[in-house]
Amino acid sequence: MLFQSLTASTLSANAQLARENLPWIDGVELRADLLSAVPPDALGRFPQFLESGTHQRSVPVILTIRRRRDGGKYDDDEGKRLRLLQHAVEAGNFSFVDLEEDLSGSGSDEEVRRAAYKSGTRVIRSFHSFDGTGGDLSERLARLSALPGEIPRIAVEPRSTSDLLQLVRASLQARGERIVAGMGDYGFPLRILSPVLGNTLAFCSHSSAESAEGGVDPRTMQELYRYSTLNQSTAIYAVIGNPIMHSRSPAFHNSRFAAAGMNAVYVPIKVDSVSSFFELAGELGMRGVSVTIPHKEAVIPFLKEVDESVTAVGACNTIIRDGEGYRGTNTDVDGFLTPLAHRASKKWEGGLAGRAATVIGAGGASRAVIYALIREGVNVCVLNRTESRARAVTEDLSPYARNASLTWGKLGHPEGNNLLSRHSDIIIQTTSLGMHPDTDGDPLPEYRFHGHELVYDIVYNPPVTRFLSRAAECGCEVIQGGEMFEGQALLQAHLFQNAYRMRSS
Ligand code: NAP
Repeated sequence: MLFQSLTASTLSANAQLARENLPWIDGVELRADLLSAVPPDALGRFPQFLESGTHQRSVPVILTIRRRRDGGKYDDDEGKRLRLLQHAVEAGNFSFVDLEEDLSGSGSDEEVRRAAYKSGTRVIRSFHSFDGTGGDLSERLARLSALPGEIPRIAVEPRSTSDLLQLVRASLQARGERIVAGMGDYGFPLRILSPVLGNTLAFCSHSSAESAEGGVDPRTMQELYRYSTLNQSTAIYAVIGNPIMHSRSPAFHNSRFAAAGMNAVYVPIKVDSVSSFFELAGELGMRGVSVTIPHKEAVIPFLKEVDESVTAVGACNTIIRDGEGYRGTNTDVDGFLTPLAHRASKKWEGGLAGRAATVIGAGGASRAVIYALIREGVNVCVLNRTESRARAVTEDLSPYARNASLTWGKLGHPEGNNLLSRHSDIIIQTTSLGMHPDTDGDPLPEYRFHGHELVYDIVYNPPVTRFLSRAAECGCEVIQGGEMFEGQALLQAHLFQNAYRMRSS
């Protein structure tokens, strides 16, 4: 079940928020600590008030008055808070009331619990930590689960992949009703995977909400992640990186999973430790993973098998589960090559083989580009601002230049320009110059295109860089970086779907 946190400052604004999101939610949590004024009687009537505007659709409501120390805004007298909760619960309309772990056994919440018992309101017993896991979570969850009739709720802001792993383990080891929620970027996967981990319910918030548990709105939860269809048989896929929340990959892969009718979900995971990530992947039985900056090299030692694209490029962007382990490949290579080979086959009778290309840049992405070109028999010259890096890249890749030459030079120097003039069938821009926000960047400002060159810029934001638009203006055929991005993602999607079918058959 998906519950929306209502975090507006008035009851009517909260009711409006709930009604707007009704198509995507199963219930709401009223965060009464965020109200500018809390009229006790009106608070007790809130669930009825809400229902009256929802064509009588019953919407379960959790009542929460979160204390400041638990990440809320309430910092008035504790006795007053408990009386407010008791009064609102006595009205008999709330499905759940949230009470904190430390109240349990103290007797201070007895009146609220009695009111809840009489009115059929379930108690959610909550623990909050904004400072990592706050101790042994499994043990804490087991202790909370032992309270008869109550639903344990652990809400933690993980500070690392290892913290996230602990939360996932606690959730998987628990039995019976439970709510294990992760906050912040590290906790994001937990919000999506809640039903896969056997949780009773999860929370989301309106995008403009101030809720600590916020970050993903109900519509995105349902339309992008298909929250209501997820269950304990759902296959898990992910993209890992740091930072990762900006990634376009979840939109790309989740929509393909939906179109293919797969019971699968694809989540972004912020990773600060690759070894913790592989423990997490094992725990969740993850089927496939996209790998992005800065982990493309670091994942390699954890794989039981890699193909030549990974060995040659020295980077892995795709991981597929194979039995008990994982194997790696690099779809940047063929993702880059596919649109180029297509254009080349139309432009030249023999396609790419025997053509001469200049690759500008010698960073991580250039290695996939150079390997793809020399594998196809293209003679390549690498030009880079830092000469030593250009030399290192060519030295590393020269064993794979079986039917092609591979040379290097310094970008912008006469010798480099000379090499460029002899390798100008294809010019490929792989530096970060021209990328948003520095869109004026151009690695070859002095170069005048002749019009015969096939020009490819792998930067995809903006879609057309200054370098590419200069080339197009001179009559060159151009390829945008977006085509490479789509190409590598499409190849990943095929690999993910194959892995899914093999495990499901
Ligand atoms: P990287 O490893 O950091 O390499 C950056 C490259 O840019 C190096 O060759 C660097 O030269 C050069 N460079 C940076 N600033 C420069 C400047 N002011 N003048 C001249 N050269 C400069 O980055 P990367 O991972 O290779 O990524 C490079 C670009 O490719 C990024 O924009 C990325 O978004 C894009 N990319 C696109 C795709 C796709 O699917 N389309 C895939 C991967 C990457 P030095 O060695 O001299 O520092």
